[in-house]
Amino acid sequence: THFGFETVSEEEKGGKVYQVFESVAKKYDVMNDMMSLGIHRVWKDLLLWKMRPFPGTQLLDVAGGTGDIAFRFLNYVQAQYRGKQKRQLRAQQNLSWEEIARKYQDEEDSLGGSHVMVCDINKEMLKIGKQKASAQGHKAGLAWVLGDAEELPFDDDKFDVYTIAFGIRNVTHIDRALQEAHRVLKPGGRFLCLEFSQVNNPIVSSFQVIPVLGEVIAGDWKSYQYLVESIRRFPCQEEFKEMIEDAGFQKVTYESLTSGIVAIHSGFKL
Ligand code: SAM
Repeated sequence: THFGFETVSEEEKGGKVYQVFESVAKKYDVMNDMMSLGIHRVWKDLLLWKMRPFPGTQLLDVAGGTGDIAFRFLNYVQAQYRGKQKRQLRAQQNLSWEEIARKYQDEEDSLGGSHVMVCDINKEMLKIGKQKASAQGHKAGLAWVLGDAEELPFDDDKFDVYTIAFGIRNVTHIDRALQEAHRVLKPGGRFLCLEFSQVNNPIVSSFQVIPVLGEVIAGDWKSYQYLVESIRRFPCQEEFKEMIEDAGFQKVTYESLTSGIVAIHSGFKL
């Protein structure tokens, strides 16, 4: 496995990945915005639109880092559930909008039983995520767990949806992570992965500026060199689709976004 300019063994990769995210945790969100010119926000929104969670959805977000997917999920189900409940209440009980707003002040009331479990291997990333959650006022429907995608600390058949955004290329054994995703999903559950992919466009050369930006903003060339290498080495859309099928998922599809800079893969446990 290549790690920046070094070649490291499989055993060493986990430790190196840990060091990278430990060292970038505090600047992770700023770097994401700088490197993608904010487009990562749109990609993450698209992941939620593809998921279309319903009130009551139990989501597991693996490699959830600083909570970007989890917060989007909570906002999405809240907006959807509140809107529906309010319309029903107004129609059935003829309440005023003020009375309805008072009734739905409690965050827990407005999630319709939905819950997101954020699982990440790095406690520094989780720490920043928890700080962001309290700053954004998210308390209900959210839990943080330290855990490895290759050996998830959950029972079988537990979640409706499994997401992993910009996480799977960091995992040492991708096949094991995919098998674990399959194990923890309920029958009928959905796997969704947002990841850098194969670009059919010269724009790819812009990735070469990532380590330079990393050095300037975070003082951390090596971490961002790793990022470039890990993107370059990740399987293309079709190959990754086959890996997902090999783990037992069905109806596997993918959608390339922004000229294939990223792709969203989807599969079902049927
Ligand atoms: N999902 C977040 C996002 O989209 O902004 C964070 C993505 S960040 C690039 C990658 C995350 O994967 C890091 O938080 C890192 O700690 C986590 N990670 C790496 N290897 C992992 C593993 N084996 N199991 C769980 N998380 C892992």
